[in-house]
Amino acid sequence: MQAEQLHEAIERRLALTGQRYTSTRRQVVDAMATLGHPATTPEIVARAGSIPQSSVYRTIALLIDAAVLVKVPGHDVHGRVELAEDLTGHHHHLVCSTCGAVNDIAVTARLEHALAEAAAAVAELGYDVTGHRFDLIGVCPNCRVEPQA
Ligand SMILES: [Zn+2]
Ligand SMILES: [Zn+2]
Repeated sequence: MQAEQLHEAIERRLALTGQRYTSTRRQVVDAMATLGHPATTPEIVARAGSIPQSSVYRTIALLIDAAVLVKVPGHDVHGRVELAEDLTGHHHHLVCSTCGAVNDIAVTARLEHALAEAAAAVAELGYDVTGHRFDLIGVCPNCRVEPQA
């Protein structure tokens, strides 16, 4: 989604709950779009420029309530958020078990198909499947300690 379309979609979503799309909220969304991966609050504060930290915290909470941002389960104590998939597109996550960094990855159509088959199978048991999660867990290049030669 183009930046302007993204902002328009978020403006409409906030309007549904009587919220305005203020410049602070727009700057936090811009920070998320620029980061391009699930981010911790300190990462968002650092990217959001001159906005006071407390204001970024409040804005993140408000955007979660409005379903613009969603919490991303990780592998450490830091909470991370990302723009909702219906705004940015379906994807999966690559999680570092050492530093906790989370990155977006696309998976093959074959895997998506297999996950859809799994959902169809449990639908027969009476479950209403609304989505799926599939994370790859590993050690990122920054955290890998190369053996001494
Ligand atoms: Zn790492
Ligand atoms: Zn998927």
